[in-house]
Amino acid sequence: MFELTNKVAIVTGGTSGIGEAIAKLYAKSGAKVVVVGRNQDRGEAIISDIKKDKGEAKFVKTDVTSNEEIKRCVDQTISAYGTIDILVNGAGIHDKYHNVLETSEEDFDKLMNINLKGAFLMAKAVLLTMLEKGKGKIINIGSQGTFVAGPGGATYVTSKHAIFGLTKQIAYDFGKKGIQSNLIAPGFIETPMTEGIDDERLKDIPAQRAGKPEEVASMALYLASDTSDYAQGAAFTIDGGWTVGR
Ligand code: NDP
Repeated sequence: MFELTNKVAIVTGGTSGIGEAIAKLYAKSGAKVVVVGRNQDRGEAIISDIKKDKGEAKFVKTDVTSNEEIKRCVDQTISAYGTIDILVNGAGIHDKYHNVLETSEEDFDKLMNINLKGAFLMAKAVLLTMLEKGKGKIINIGSQGTFVAGPGGATYVTSKHAIFGLTKQIAYDFGKKGIQSNLIAPGFIETPMTEGIDDERLKDIPAQRAGKPEEVASMALYLASDTSDYAQGAAFTIDGGWTVGR
């Protein structure tokens, strides 16, 4: 039902955590996957795992703050696999719970350049190819911070609200031309980003536990597959009930 045979997917943030789980599940489901990140060793290790599992994937070292590197990544994807069907914008950083007064202008720009502008530039770089085909799926990774503020995290929450705006605007502008744009809003997921954070609030959420990257990847598989063709401009939460209230 959720298969991606012969689809070509670019997954940013594919070198770790949630993006890594998505890249691996996509490859297992038949897609040719381009894993994007800056860490060459991690990238190569993940490609080796995927190949051991008989999947097809390439690592293209790319910093999503560089438009030049993004364009090169998209060109290399098309040279290798001929097209692009799916883009997952998973690259992101957290600012470790700083409020507005504690956040410098430099830190604000750094986080926005990765979490928001990186997704914007990636979408811009793949859209023409998708529009030529009349079909394409863009999946942005938001957060519970897409809907609610929390202790600190001023720039993070701002970026995750904004990426939902980008998601909806792409759906609005290009939905009639076959582009689907949706957002996944994970809750607290066990990845290197959350390592060492003992979040007391987890005890009070309905699931009473953190999530696993694979649990987010399942939703990303649904959104990448043809089964989800009617989903448009929407946010899909996978947060153990975090945003229903605690
Ligand atoms: P990780 O820290 O495990 O992974 C972050 C990924 O982003 C890495 O693959 C890293 O690759 C990539 N990245 C960071 N900066 C850049 C850059 N400049 N250029 C290219 N790639 C970059 O985090 P998670 O897997 O937890 O997070 C993935 C996404 O999910 C993020 O957008 C995050 O905000 C979101 N999220 C995470 C939650 C969680 O609880 N873990 C909850 C809600 C949302 P490399 O180091 O190779 O550059």
